[in-house]
Amino acid sequence: FTTARTPTAGLFSSLHRHYSSTSSDRITATLFPGDGIGPEIAESVKQVFTAAEVPIEWEEHFVGTEVDPRTQSFVTWESLESVRRNKVGLKGPMATPIGKGHRSLNLTLRKELNLYANVRPCYSLPGYKTRYDDVNLVTIRENTEGEYSGLEHQVVRGVVESLKIITRQASLRVAEYAFYYAKTHGRQRVSAVHKANIMQKTDGLFLKCCREVADKYPEIKYEEVVIDNCCMMLVKNPTLFDVLVMPNLYGDIISDLCAGLIGGLGLTPSLNIGEGGIALAEAVHGSAPDIAGKNLANPTALLLSAVSMLHHLDLNEKADKIQDAVLKTIAEGKYRTGDLGGTSTTTEFTKAIIDHL
Ligand code: NAD
Repeated sequence: FTTARTPTAGLFSSLHRHYSSTSSDRITATLFPGDGIGPEIAESVKQVFTAAEVPIEWEEHFVGTEVDPRTQSFVTWESLESVRRNKVGLKGPMATPIGKGHRSLNLTLRKELNLYANVRPCYSLPGYKTRYDDVNLVTIRENTEGEYSGLEHQVVRGVVESLKIITRQASLRVAEYAFYYAKTHGRQRVSAVHKANIMQKTDGLFLKCCREVADKYPEIKYEEVVIDNCCMMLVKNPTLFDVLVMPNLYGDIISDLCAGLIGGLGLTPSLNIGEGGIALAEAVHGSAPDIAGKNLANPTALLLSAVSMLHHLDLNEKADKIQDAVLKTIAEGKYRTGDLGGTSTTTEFTKAIIDHL
């Protein structure tokens, strides 16, 4: 499963020396337990990390009860400062109340921390049967602009407008990261996903930037796929893809589609890469209000996100140990949560993982 790793080599690997540490051998990381199932799956990660003797001290931060004027969101200034100081963190899902007039928590974190690339590996889990048994791809989502720029307003009564912003700077930055990722992970191909036939200016600029970066990496095959065709190809034959890079909204949608190919949202991790060496790991899924507080959530996605955080910190031995225990537990099939067809609670599944460490 080395191909599922998040980048640690070269440019990014040397950064771990700058992380905050409470003593010479322990690293401080920010933890946002988040909303809904967040606290339950964050507890699972904490227990597994303790059992695996991972040298991490968690600095826990909770979403505020009122809007912080300095962030214009429920995300507090102090919690942003914590991530800036520690440079590394793990985030549970955060609910976004619809149409309440304040900035989304996730958007605040992405914009304020400049988390420009969201890396979402997706691979078939051994022993867990789905229609495909050989999915192994990575979605790299531009994370700061596009349709998520937060620029929406009413033009006149009955007409609203939402702006999609694409900049050369952000497109080059995410394309560069995608090719760097492919190169450092033994990946052969980068596919830029777009709708430039319709969004000629915005997606057109995104593609232009991808082409510029592709020219610098002749060893990596580069191709362009229109998003609707990409969805069809992914469902018919996901092995056609390797690394996919795309604007924000497309990445959000395509990565959920990919999660569906391997067993669902309970399984897919991600790592947000930010300016200045910041890395914030989080599951792809949301707060799952339908199962929150019932001890039913699958902690795998957050655990594998935490594993990607450990790889980023070059704590590869601990990362591999935890990933192996998670995958063995799922493969064995005795303890699985409801989303994977099992009857285990979050607590029972977590205990089984700890027994496999
Ligand atoms: P969701 O991902 O929370 O849930 C979709 C479905 O997947 C639900 O049926 C849920 O039970 C299931 N599911 C998700 N994670 C699971 C897990 N770990 N184990 C078992 N089943 C799991 O999506 P939603 O319902 O559209 O969104 C709920 C809230 O989460 C919204 O407020 C949304 O804005 C927010 N959200 C946050 C993030 C984030 O924090 N990064 C991402 C997506 C959605």
